Amino acid sequence: MFALTFDDGPGPSTEALLEVLRAAKTRATFFLLGRNVEEAPWCGDPARARSLALRAKREGHVLGNHSYSHLRPDRWREFAADVRRGEAVVRGLLRSKAPGAFRLPYGIRRGQHRFALGSIGERLDPRLPVIASLGIGHQHWTSDFDDWTLRPGDGAKLATKMIAHVAKCETAGLDAVLDLHDSGTGSSFGYERPATVEGVRLFLEEAGRRGWKSFTVPR
Ligand SMILES: [Zn+2]
Repeated sequence: MFALTFDDGPGPSTEALLEVLRAAKTRATFFLLGRNVEEAPWCGDPARARSLALRAKREGHVLGNHSYSHLRPDRWREFAADVRRGEAVVRGLLRSKAPGAFRLPYGIRRGQHRFALGSIGERLDPRLPVIASLGIGHQHWTSDFDDWTLRPGDGAKLATKMIAHVAKCETAGLDAVLDLHDSGTGSSFGYERPATVEGVRLFLEEAGRRGWKSFTVPR
């Protein structure tokens, strides 16, 4: 089995992605970037961003928090407030008091140096003790695919990698959790992810042929 997860959204490719998922009757998890909903720098229209996120929810997808601003790991001192701010955005969309699932920006990184908490988590990503103190956990993946670096024509290449990964997990007796991106953080890679949309479409076709089933995280 496999779970599709999308970080950094919403963005200009989210709508096309929702169409692909709907056509394949597949539900996924969207770890939203609070800023891409509330300020929507990718389109300048927060109402559009919000309605895309609500459409994902309405169509049965899981909405999670990916923090508000996607701070670099070395800004861990500011991280708790940024996680809470992103959480508030997701809570507002879900109309729920529950915090929802959380994914760390950049995933888990190795700690680079000592930091002010002394020995706690010294060799770990310093954000892990921060989220532990907030009482939340991180939803990791079995593979990411650097899909934010791909060019528009690279969808088939991405699908091939995704298929190979799920097959490898199957051999190892594991279900696969695939980390992909339907938008960006404002970096030089921009916000458009057409290769991801096409890659997911081709992947789901092949998954159907092979009889692979999807699930959503958290389970
Ligand atoms: Zn991210």
